[in-house]
Amino acid sequence: MHRRHLVPGVLAAATVLLAIPASAASFSPGAPGIGDPYYPASGNGGYDVSHYDLRLKYQPKTDLLEGTATLNATAKQDLSRFNLDLGLAVSEVRVNGRLAKFAREGEQELVITPATPLQKGKSLSIVVRYAGKPSEVRIGGYTAWARTPDGGVAAQEPESAAWWFPSNDHPLDKATYDVSVSVPDGHQAISNGVLQSQSSKLGWTRFNWRSNKPQAPYLATLAVGKFDITTDKTASGLPVLNAYSKDLGDNDGAARASIERSTEVTEWLEGVFGPYPFNAVGGYVPNVTSGFALETQTRPFYSPRQFANGANVSVVVHELAHQWYGDSVSVHHWKDIWVNEGFARYSQWLWSEKEGEGTAQELADYVYATRPAEDPFWQVKPGDPGPDKQFDIAVYDRGALAVQALRNEVGDDAFFEILKGWPKKYAYGNAKVSDFVKYAEKVAGKPLAELFDTWLYEPSKPAAPAAAESRIARGLSASPAAKPVQPKSWKKIAETNTIHDH
Ligand SMILES: [Zn+2]
Repeated sequence: MHRRHLVPGVLAAATVLLAIPASAASFSPGAPGIGDPYYPASGNGGYDVSHYDLRLKYQPKTDLLEGTATLNATAKQDLSRFNLDLGLAVSEVRVNGRLAKFAREGEQELVITPATPLQKGKSLSIVVRYAGKPSEVRIGGYTAWARTPDGGVAAQEPESAAWWFPSNDHPLDKATYDVSVSVPDGHQAISNGVLQSQSSKLGWTRFNWRSNKPQAPYLATLAVGKFDITTDKTASGLPVLNAYSKDLGDNDGAARASIERSTEVTEWLEGVFGPYPFNAVGGYVPNVTSGFALETQTRPFYSPRQFANGANVSVVVHELAHQWYGDSVSVHHWKDIWVNEGFARYSQWLWSEKEGEGTAQELADYVYATRPAEDPFWQVKPGDPGPDKQFDIAVYDRGALAVQALRNEVGDDAFFEILKGWPKKYAYGNAKVSDFVKYAEKVAGKPLAELFDTWLYEPSKPAAPAAAESRIARGLSASPAAKPVQPKSWKKIAETNTIHDH
């Protein structure tokens, strides 16, 4: 579902020595990373952001982005200085209204030294003025900004924010967002949440977007281009906004036939996962050449190629399922990716079951039977896959097998109680795989550590004695005649596996 993107594992050593007054001896620099073992440079330590206000201007012809970002934050320690993650050039930084010193370290660290040290608990207003061409920013040799003939798009995982705004770029630091973007008349700027207003003046149109629930930086999105926008309301009054590039060619019909069903899919997912967690729903399709989709909050990103073989509602199910599993409840560290992808993939299996195109059990049996024991698929541990395998197919398919094994072990009543209870218990927060195991054990009232160890952590094809009642537990050797037939939904689900398309 996502493109894999590696950030260099080693941070440039911070060697800047600061003259700290004796009276401020307890003040120390915030860490240049938030502490994620997969991505040591991601995020920063020492403060927490509660709100981003981004006021931007973008010129599609030249790819020039100019912006002023205002961050509301709180110091979490006595801070002598702190970092933000940003790849664009900075002209001025103010902290609580006063000019601050700033310097660049490595490819994405903006080191900010405020005029006076910041006491733990102090409210911070951080203003960063910046400009540049996002397509020219390379971090780890890579760009998350996709240029299109009529603009550009920021939608990438695990990082995309550094290409368009300064942030504490890790899911552990979520915040609300106001994104205001001025673009030449005739273009549109698409972002997350609700379009509060738009107005035109002197040839430029400004779009004001608001995402009013906690949102991880990588789930913030921006797309500028020429779009056709459709709007509606769900039965419960949630605003729906979809945007289609005017340049989708032959994929246009299939894209609309898929994404216009977002309301129906959201309604069905509410039955499985509980109330929808955000203030808007929708999707957008820019005219990019990539092939993946991404669960950008309230408004997933879809590549046109997802619809090359006709409508694919399964990908819509996957990205909207992430609104509960991934966006509202986010990973603690990126090694917890199974809590996102195992369940987003499993939701596609449940949709197939509901549509009569193959039950989740049949899909699980098919995956199990078509992956021989020697397939490297079984060496990937969905519970801690490593950064280079974070978006491996095994995280999705073996990850969903683990969910089916849980369902077989605890029965449908407890299973669906878990599916609905988890997004409520950890709403708008972060959670680890181990938190899920504990939660499932509590709801089911039985130990499940062995089952999850078998399906998430053993680097081999499970024989699964813990799920002895299920067909996948018996495996092919136990029932050699039972060669699973490919479920009808299989091909559409497989078309959403666009994770290897570098
Ligand atoms: Zn996904």
